[in-house]
Amino acid sequence: MQKLARAHPDARFELDFTSPLELLVALILAAQFRDDRVNAITPPLFARYRTPRAWAEADPAELEQQLRAVNFYRQKTKAVQRCCAEIVARFGGEVPRSLADLLELPHVGRKTANVLRANAYGEPAIGVDRHVARLAKRIGLTGNDDPDQIEADLMKVVRPADRVRLCHLLQWHGRRVCLAREPRCALCVIQPLCDFARSTAETPARRSPSTTTRKKATGRDHAPSPPGGAAARPSGAAARASTAAAARQSGRRTSRPPR
Ligand code: SF4
Repeated sequence: MQKLARAHPDARFELDFTSPLELLVALILAAQFRDDRVNAITPPLFARYRTPRAWAEADPAELEQQLRAVNFYRQKTKAVQRCCAEIVARFGGEVPRSLADLLELPHVGRKTANVLRANAYGEPAIGVDRHVARLAKRIGLTGNDDPDQIEADLMKVVRPADRVRLCHLLQWHGRRVCLAREPRCALCVIQPLCDFARSTAETPARRSPSTTTRKKATGRDHAPSPPGGAAARPSGAAARASTAAAARQSGRRTSRPPR
């Protein structure tokens, strides 16, 4: 975590919110959608709909139009309204705090519930999204594929005070360096600690990068292309070996050439 924190000092939770209700709505809207695009549309909605009742009783057609920029906006409109109606009916209009209560809400799964508990209520919860799951397995913090099991494994090895921060760090590292398709191990600050890197240590991709390249790779740029351009990206046999190993681990086919 220290190494990741130095590499990603700006790592943080990316959805904007000021209350558990706002975060709950944002999380529903952010399913399979980009956080920054959710942030772009939520401020006027949060200003207009301030309570679960307001969301639940909003005109569905009007709300659909307000959410048109979001993918699956019709389904997500229904999801937000059903969820908020349940909060009104069963929890007195307050977004519940406990995992058990949150899981009673429609359209709220374990990941969403834990992300909400961690970021809105400060609970030492771990929301296992795709980045957390992928990195936990690659690094060697878990041997499981099931998100519930991954959560349990992480809870055992991460102190309560570090759990929320760990998730943010893994998410940012997963977006910048430990990419799903092609982990940039040669640019990774935790390469010496990583099971995946050890398992592929015989490949050229495991060579230590220069200090300059590592710094660029872990800088503030959030762009998907490799920092430093093509020169900073492991290439040729190294990239193919890294890609193939990542694909083997995730069970994917490797016919697609490395980017
Ligand atoms: S060494 Fe490679 S697999 Fe391990 S965390 Fe870093 S980028 Fe991911």
